[in-house]
Amino acid sequence: MNLFNQFGIEKDTEKFCLQVENGLQSTFQKLDSIRYTNGAKVLYAMQKNKLSDSHFSASTGYGYNDIGRETIDAIYADIFKAEDALVRTQIMSGTHALSIALFGNLRPNDEILSPVGKPYDTLDKVIGIVPAKGSLKEYGITYKQVDLLEDFSFDYEGIRNAITDKTKLVTIQRSKGYSNRPTLSVFQIGELITFIKSIREDIICMVDNCYGEFVEEIEPTEVGADLVVGSLIKNIGGGLASSGGYIVGKKEYVENAAIRFSCSGLGKEIGANLGLNQQVLQGLFFAPEVVHNALKGAILTGAVFEKLGFKVNPMPTAFRSDIVQSIDMQTAENVITFCKAIQNAAPVDSYVSPEPWDMPGYDAPVIMAAGTFIQGASIELSADAPIKPPYTVFFQGGLTYYHVRIAIMICTQSIKGLSKKNI
Ligand SMILES: *Cc1c(COP(=O)(O)O)cnc(C)c1O
Repeated sequence: MNLFNQFGIEKDTEKFCLQVENGLQSTFQKLDSIRYTNGAKVLYAMQKNKLSDSHFSASTGYGYNDIGRETIDAIYADIFKAEDALVRTQIMSGTHALSIALFGNLRPNDEILSPVGKPYDTLDKVIGIVPAKGSLKEYGITYKQVDLLEDFSFDYEGIRNAITDKTKLVTIQRSKGYSNRPTLSVFQIGELITFIKSIREDIICMVDNCYGEFVEEIEPTEVGADLVVGSLIKNIGGGLASSGGYIVGKKEYVENAAIRFSCSGLGKEIGANLGLNQQVLQGLFFAPEVVHNALKGAILTGAVFEKLGFKVNPMPTAFRSDIVQSIDMQTAENVITFCKAIQNAAPVDSYVSPEPWDMPGYDAPVIMAAGTFIQGASIELSADAPIKPPYTVFFQGGLTYYHVRIAIMICTQSIKGLSKKNI
C-alpha cells in the first residue's frame, strides 16, 4: 500500500509537491552553512562553559546556588555574544518575557518608541495601546509609534522627530508577526540601531527576537541590540523545552529585567529549575537543526502555495530572517480548510478540528492549528490566522522536515478544490 494513501493524499498531489520540492534543492543547500555555523556556536558555548551532567540536577525551593541555571545563562550569553542572560522556565511565554524586560527597564514618565509599526498583538495590553489593567500606561509610561514607509523601509525622518528626552527604550520586532510587512533582517535591525544610537547613545534598543533565533548566522545582539528577548517554546527551545523565555543583553538591563522577574533584592539569584535544565539544554543543542527543518518546510510550503495561485510572503527563494511563511488564503473558508488540514497532519490531536475563537490578547477571532507535544509550541508544525481580511494564514515550525512534507501534501489535497489553479 502506498504510504501516502493512508493520509488521503492522491498520486497527482504527491507528484505535484515532489516536483515543487525538486526545484528547491539549491535553495535548501544555501541553508546548510547557516545550520552549521549555529550548530558550532551552540556546541562551542556548551564546551566553553564546561557543561556537565551535574548541571542537569533539579534544584528546589529557593533555588539558590543553582549552578545548572547559571550555566544555562552563561551559555545563552555566549551564543548571543552578550554580557548576560536570564533564561527561565518560569517565564511563561514570549509576551511574558517582553513584559518583564519592559517593566524592568522603564520608570514613570519614560517613553517607549516602536519605529517599525505596531508591535505584536499580545503587547497591545502590556503597553496600553489597548486600555488594560496593569499596563505600562497605567504606570505613566507612554508609547509612540512610527510606521514603516510604503516601501517598508524605515521612516528615518519620522523616527528622528519622534525621539525626545523622554524616549527611554526602542522596541524593534524582528518577525513580522501578524502583519503584512516583511520580516527585518539582522542587518536591517543593525542599521536602525546605529541610527537611533546616533541620535542618543543611551536609548535602550530592545529586539523582540521571537521566531528569529538561528535563522541567520548572527543575532541582533551582534549588531548593537542592548536587549534581545524570546520564547523557549519557539526556535531556541528546539522543541524540547517545555516552557520558558529568555532575555539576553547588557548586564544592567538584564539585571533590571531579573528584578522584575523575581523581585528587588533577589534578581537572578532565585528560581528553582525543578529538573527542567536538561530539556532546556538539549533543546538548545537541537535548535539549529530544528530551525533548519522548519525553514525548509516554510520554503516548501511557500513554493507549493505559490504554484497553486496564492500570494505568499516571503517568496520561496527570498532571504529569510524568521521561520514564518504567510499565505493569503483569500477567504475565511480557505483559512479554516488549511488550518484543519495542518491539524489533521499532526502527531498529537490529529483527530480534533480547530475552530476560530476569541483569544486573550488578539483583536479578531483566531484559528490555531497545532497538534503539538508542548501546548502551543509554534516551533512544532503549526498554523494560525486571525479571521480578518486579507485572510492571511501564518504557517511555521516543524521539528522534522518529513513531517512538514507530509503535512503540505495533506493541505494541498484538501485545498485542491478551493484553489484557483488546478494541479
Ligand atoms: C510569538 C511571538 C511573541 C510572543 O508570543 P507568546 O505567544 O506570548 O509566546 C511576540 N512577538 C512575536 C513576533 C512573536 O512571534
